[in-house]
Amino acid sequence: MQSKSLSTGLLLLVLFSVISLFAYQHSFNTSLVINAESDYAFKPITDESQGGKTTATLTLTPQGIVLECNIVKAYAWPFCEFAIKLSEISEGIDISKYDTVTLDARYEGEGSQRIRFYIRNFHPTYTDIHNDATLKVNEVEYEPNLYSSEVTIPLKNFQVASWWISELNIPLEHFAPDFTNVSVLEIATGSLISEGPVKIVVEEIRFDGKLIPETVFLTGIIGVWIAFAIIYLLSDLKRLRVDLSSTRQKAIELESLTEALKLESKKFETMAKRDPLTGARNRAGIRDSLFEQVQLVYLQQTPLSIVFMDLDHFKQINDVHGHDVGDEVLKVFAGLVTGLTRQGDSLVRWGGEEFLLVCPNTELDQASQLAEKIRSLLEVSQWPDGVKVTCSFGVTQMGQESTGEFIARADEALYKAKSKGRNRVVSFHSNPKG
Ligand code: GH3
Ligand code: MG
Ligand code: MG
Repeated sequence: MQSKSLSTGLLLLVLFSVISLFAYQHSFNTSLVINAESDYAFKPITDESQGGKTTATLTLTPQGIVLECNIVKAYAWPFCEFAIKLSEISEGIDISKYDTVTLDARYEGEGSQRIRFYIRNFHPTYTDIHNDATLKVNEVEYEPNLYSSEVTIPLKNFQVASWWISELNIPLEHFAPDFTNVSVLEIATGSLISEGPVKIVVEEIRFDGKLIPETVFLTGIIGVWIAFAIIYLLSDLKRLRVDLSSTRQKAIELESLTEALKLESKKFETMAKRDPLTGARNRAGIRDSLFEQVQLVYLQQTPLSIVFMDLDHFKQINDVHGHDVGDEVLKVFAGLVTGLTRQGDSLVRWGGEEFLLVCPNTELDQASQLAEKIRSLLEVSQWPDGVKVTCSFGVTQMGQESTGEFIARADEALYKAKSKGRNRVVSFHSNPKG
């Protein structure tokens, strides 16, 4: 992965995280709603069970659950309340998956206007299934009239009632609130209550939470980041390996090409790249571009052809007309050939009166036609000192083979052209392997 794709990846990840957080805040909600229409058993309870004289009536009305009591101070801590039985005592509901409870309640009466809300939890170690009083009392006490309508209380604000702990002699390990097995809810008058009539109206009790707990959700997000980091590091490692091996491979191939061109590799960097007499490239001057062409053949199956050219009986020209005329002939030859070649083709002076024409992106037929064109042009051209110049051509196209094999085949084709009588083009197809 490159730095551009890294930043794109990071951007996507940040976007994903922000969108997920937003979606989490606004969805994945779950709730439990209890009101007068709920299908649970509602029951009024007073201190009469403790020997008190408080009385209570409970009515389910369209306005809510209405508890009306007459508080009488006959018992030390008079109270009235109503209970909502959610389930059988030992088969409670797990409400620990909710985060908050919202109470919509009103209080009418004298003295303290507080109400208590109990969430009663079953646990086999402290609950006797025949005694509701042994359900754990998770409680919160507040004054509903201080709030305009409903009030939302986090479950973590609940405490276990100390009187329940001391009455039942609960061991230390069960002091903490527990909401995992809730079978009863209760709404009761508060502490410090005065005598007289009391009315508590509860419109709704609603537990709200998330389908996926926040910790699980955040762990998921962190997990995605970690996975991204791991994938990035692994792909980076892989890229480094590929780079390294392709660099090594490139070095090996350049080495073999250097050998195919019969260059001395150590001197290569300091060699001139062009032949001063004809202006054609020399072997050193073709190495890099030939290397690139060969790569294209290997990787993209782009055709590559070469034409090997050797002037016929050049020795005689030298012998008859002198070395200087020979030199001129070489110059004119290079100029004529260059005039016929396309951009991208490269003329290389291979040695003496031997030239190599490298034609990238060229099929064998096209290269042969080009060679034929050059051959014809030489026949009709004007040469220094009126000499007659002809040339022999060996043409071939590269197959899946080494550069050495490729050049050698062009050389064989040229040899054949010579042996067949010179002044001709001989084309060899790539070897059967290719
Ligand atoms: P063939 O048709 O078989 O190729 O015969 P040829 O005479 O062309 O081949 P040969 O290899 O026998 O001779 C090549 C000659 O080219 C010998 C050499 O003196 C001459 N030569 C090589 N380099 C130069 C140069 O730079 N200038 C001149 N004038 N002659 C050169
Ligand atoms: Mg020769
Ligand atoms: Mg020759």
